[in-house]
Amino acid sequence: MEPAAGITERLLERLSRARRLVVLTGSGVSHESGVPTFRGRDGLWKKYRAEELATRQAFEFDPELVWRWYDYRRQLIAEAAPNPAHEAIARLESHREHFDLVTQNVDGLHSRAGSRSPIELHGNIWRARCTREGLTKELKENPLRDIPPRCHKCGALLRPDVVWFGEPLPPSAYERADTAARTCDAMLVVGTSAMVRPAASLPLIAKHNGAYVVEINVSLTPISVLIDASLVGRAGEILPELVDRLLDREGGRKPLIPGSSEKTESPSR
Ligand code: NAD
Repeated sequence: MEPAAGITERLLERLSRARRLVVLTGSGVSHESGVPTFRGRDGLWKKYRAEELATRQAFEFDPELVWRWYDYRRQLIAEAAPNPAHEAIARLESHREHFDLVTQNVDGLHSRAGSRSPIELHGNIWRARCTREGLTKELKENPLRDIPPRCHKCGALLRPDVVWFGEPLPPSAYERADTAARTCDAMLVVGTSAMVRPAASLPLIAKHNGAYVVEINVSLTPISVLIDASLVGRAGEILPELVDRLLDREGGRKPLIPGSSEKTESPSR
C-alpha cells in the first residue's frame, strides 16, 4: 500500500493510464454538503438508529414514523447543494470516454452536480413506489402534505423508492455496477465505510480483476489494507486537487461533451 496521504506521481500515472474508470461513492461524499451519514449522530432523530427506521419491518409497523423521518431527510437534502467533490467527479466524467459512477447515495446530488447517469444502487429519495402495484413515480413535493402519502391511482400506501436494510439491490443497477467493477482499469472509492454489502464488495471485485483501486475517506476502512492506496482526508478537498492534477497531466484535455459538468437545477422544494 502507498503512504496514507498524498497524491503521488505513481498514483496519477496509474489513474491516467486507466482506459476504463469507475468512481464508487457512499454517504461521505455528501457529508460536506450537510447531508449526514448514517453512522453520524443526527439532531432530532438521534434517538433512532437508521437500521431501526430504514427497514420493511419498521415501515409495516409504523409507516407514518418512517415517512416522517424520510420527510425530514428530504428537507435536509433539498437545502443541500453539491459540493466540490460531486463537482470534481462530474468534471472527471466529462473528460472520459469510458466512465461509470456508481453511488450508494439516494440524495440525487451527483445528478445535480452534472453527472450524466449515475448507477443508483440504493434508489432515490425523490421517488416513491406503490406498495400494491410496485409502480414508481417521482415524488418531489417537499415537505410532504400528507404523511404517509398514498398512491393516487389505487389508494395504497406509497413507500420511498430506496433499498432498505435487508432488501436486495435492484438487479439491473447491480448488474451494471458489477460489470463496471469487473471491467475497469481503476476505481476511486469515495466516502464509503465499505461495510454495507453487496456494494462494499465492488472495490474487491475490481481489485481481484486487476484494477488499481484508490480510496478517499476521512479515515481508514476495512478495505484499506486490501487496495492500492488510501488518501485520508475530506473528499471535497482531495478530489478537486486529484482531478485538477490528473487533467493537467493529461494536457488539460477538453471535455468530450462541452458543458456536461455544469450544474443542473435543484429539485423543487
Ligand atoms: P456510512 O455512513 O457507513 O459511511 C460513510 C463513510 O464516509 C465513512 O467511512 C466516513 O469515514 C466517510 N466520510 C465521512 N465524511 C467524509 C468526507 N467529508 N470525505 C470522505 N469521507 C467521508 O455510509 P455508506 O458506506 O455510504 O453506507 C450507508 C448507507 O446509507 C448507504 O448505502 C446509503 O444508501 C445510505 N445513506 C445515504 C445517504 C445519502 O444519500 N446522502 C446518507 C446517509 C446514508
